[in-house]
Amino acid sequence: DVLVNQIAAGEVVERPASVVKELVENALDAGASRIDIDLEEGGARLIRVRDDGGGIAAAELPVAVQRHATSKIASLEDLEAVATLGFRGEALPSIASVSRFRIASRRNGDDNGNALQVEGGRVGEVAPSAQPQGTTVEVRELFYNVPARRRFLRAERTELGHIEEWLRTLALARPDVEVRISHNGKPLRRYRGDSASETGARLVDALGEEFSRNVLRIDHAGAGLRLHGWIAQPSYNRASADQQYLFVNGRGVRDRNVAHAVRQAYSDVLFHGRHPAYVLFLELDPRAVDVNVHPAKHEVRFRDSRLVHDFVYRTLQEALSGTRA
Ligand code: ADP
Ligand code: MG
Repeated sequence: DVLVNQIAAGEVVERPASVVKELVENALDAGASRIDIDLEEGGARLIRVRDDGGGIAAAELPVAVQRHATSKIASLEDLEAVATLGFRGEALPSIASVSRFRIASRRNGDDNGNALQVEGGRVGEVAPSAQPQGTTVEVRELFYNVPARRRFLRAERTELGHIEEWLRTLALARPDVEVRISHNGKPLRRYRGDSASETGARLVDALGEEFSRNVLRIDHAGAGLRLHGWIAQPSYNRASADQQYLFVNGRGVRDRNVAHAVRQAYSDVLFHGRHPAYVLFLELDPRAVDVNVHPAKHEVRFRDSRLVHDFVYRTLQEALSGTRA
């Protein structure tokens, strides 16, 4: 679908958070078990993502950053042109075309690492570089050569907020991966690696002690569906609209249908309509859900949304009923 692809492509380098997303997803694709993210000035000045994944061979470095005729992008002055780029296999070239970019990598078992610099799309030479196993990507001065986009960046706190929110969602989905974030040279967040993903340690790291003490554990399967995770106890009053995380087959999404089912379970059992806080994972047959409805908006479409709604509603209704003694 051309339109969907164009929308998705426009997102690749919309703001620092989109760069973080692309780089972190690459790290995960490379099998990383630990990812370190260093940011400066909300990511506008520096985004550095280091992983301990499989790495890239020296000969492959230029390939990774150069899937496009870079001259076209180096002279980019308007926003629309970015939106015409493709999406898959094009994140690094896109990012490297609008930043001072460096990628260094060392594969497991190689004696040394190699690095490659790209300045506004102009690709340099591969050179040996001290580098632990894995890959480090540095994106400096995002949009330095695209003034229209640079001006569009929001305040440091706003951009950092977008990055943190995306990483929080990712952290909830991937408790097995350790993630550390620093901002302006200071440690900001640490998500401890937690291979036993059901323990809730990651919940504490992502949403705090207080939230974690005030949740009900949910785990229920039936009719080919499974719903597990945590919902806030009725007594937990601090929930805000943004403490609502839904993952469908491991992918963070927004879905009105499921959100409605949760809200209705709360209000039917408890007779109030506050924002319920939750972190819920819905697993179902991949064929029963279309995740490509709108990649940019993280939406899904269920084949049988009534079934999903009723399953979520009944599961939570029962769990909450037990709290009403
Ligand atoms: P895509 O992820 O869609 O393939 P990208 O532009 O994001 O496209 O990355 C291009 C290629 O560079 C990837 O396919 C992968 O081979 C390589 N690559 C990028 N980042 C990493 C990383 N952190 N570790 C290993 N390989 C990477
Ligand atoms: Mg990628």
